[in-house]
Amino acid sequence: MKNFVIIGNSAAGISAAEAIRQKDKKSKITIISEEDYHSYCRCLISYFLAGEIPEEKLVFRPEDFYKENNLNLILNKKVVKVEPKKNIIKFEDKTSLGYDMLLIATGASSKFPPDLKGLKKKGVFGLRTIRDAKEILNLVPSSSSSCILGGGLVSLKAAYGLLKRGQELKIIVKSKFVLSQMLDEKGAGLFMKKFQEAGVEIMTARDIVEILGNGDLKAVRLDSGKVIACSILVVGKGVNPNTDLIKDTQLNLDKGILVDQYMKSSIPNIFAAGDVAQTFDLVYKNSVVNALWPNAIEQGRISGLNMIGENLKYDGSMTMNSIGFFDLPAISMGITRPKNPELEELVLFDEKRNICKKFVLDKNHLVGMIAIGDISNCGVFLRLIKEGTDITSIKNELVSETFSYAKVLDLVKHKDEVFIL
Ligand SMILES: Cc1cc2nc3c(=O)[nH]c(=O)nc-3n(C[C@H](O)[C@H](O)[C@H](O)COP(=O)(O)OP(=O)(O)OC[C@H]3O[C@@H](n4cnc5c(N)ncnc54)[C@H](O)[C@@H]3O)c2cc1C
Repeated sequence: MKNFVIIGNSAAGISAAEAIRQKDKKSKITIISEEDYHSYCRCLISYFLAGEIPEEKLVFRPEDFYKENNLNLILNKKVVKVEPKKNIIKFEDKTSLGYDMLLIATGASSKFPPDLKGLKKKGVFGLRTIRDAKEILNLVPSSSSSCILGGGLVSLKAAYGLLKRGQELKIIVKSKFVLSQMLDEKGAGLFMKKFQEAGVEIMTARDIVEILGNGDLKAVRLDSGKVIACSILVVGKGVNPNTDLIKDTQLNLDKGILVDQYMKSSIPNIFAAGDVAQTFDLVYKNSVVNALWPNAIEQGRISGLNMIGENLKYDGSMTMNSIGFFDLPAISMGITRPKNPELEELVLFDEKRNICKKFVLDKNHLVGMIAIGDISNCGVFLRLIKEGTDITSIKNELVSETFSYAKVLDLVKHKDEVFIL
């Protein structure tokens, strides 16, 4: 019997607990969260903000899940320190807990630009937790105008949510277009048009330099000098992995906690998974934090199994996103805006039909793609990227109207692992 401690009650932590419990019915498993909520699907909180999903539909695992699986759940308690030499963790309230095997699955927190003046005002938010969404919603009745800083996935989700709540909205983006980590300029243009048609003003190549107000947010000042009145500002400038608790330990850390192929950190009885872990990227072939829900689930599962002594390798993670706004769906994966001129791009773009298909190839191997409007069969392309398949035989058909899905499927080795999208 072992004493497993998992810090994090979300995708990675729960997936690890389930994997351990499937094979080990007896050992003690403790799951800890600093939040005071049972597990929920973080990806859905913007739909809760929009009023499209009620709070009870956000639930990831039902409340009785912990009891049924004999999991000891500690909520509303923050871990501030890991002490690997003593095999204990310390909480903010000065109590501590021992472990035999530890999983750090603390995820990430909203990133706020450190040099942005006036950040500490009521009305300035990140969008990471249910609490964030609820606090934003509390302000909505007394606010008519909101701003979003940043043009990434979470920013647009927040914008969509606030738009649905009747806010007049402006999005301020430093780059030339939104979703620049996910799409290219043309593809992103289709989404910008949709938001603009819905009445959102998108200010590109702009930044906020100061947040104005006396305690409460009143306005933001842009780098152009322009002042925009608003009482809600959502900052969507990416995330920082929650690694504070391992400061002053010998755990190897870069942006996230560095793990090996078995999700093990540099200390043998400590594993890390999810948004806090830095793993091998299958396409870019380097070590990165790919902060995505499916990656966290898979990494959690592998960590859990390896913590009970299995020897499972994690293949690696991949950038991969799916979105849908105003009935326009999109999926992107791998490299979408290649900087290396040796990579080949095959593009089909039909602005009238809101269709975009783009494939990025490295010596006839698929390394990335974008699909907007028609996202069918993307699961097959995901497998082709992961399997590193030579796609010479179908290359010329990829962006043609007579494209044959069956021929593509023929090239996939593990057909049982194709997601149907
Ligand atoms: C609005 C929004 C939309 C998103 N949309 C998508 C999407 O469409 N697709 C996608 O793939 N991904 C999406 N994501 C990202 C996805 O939610 C994350 O990749 C995923 O939640 C990571 O899971 P995790 O278990 O690693 O960490 P988290 O979900 O961040 O959970 C971390 C856990 O650790 C706990 N914790 C943290 N620090 C401490 C501490 N010091 N002490 C105790 N407990 C602690 C937290 O309370 C929490 O329980 C979205 C995220 C947001 C915020």
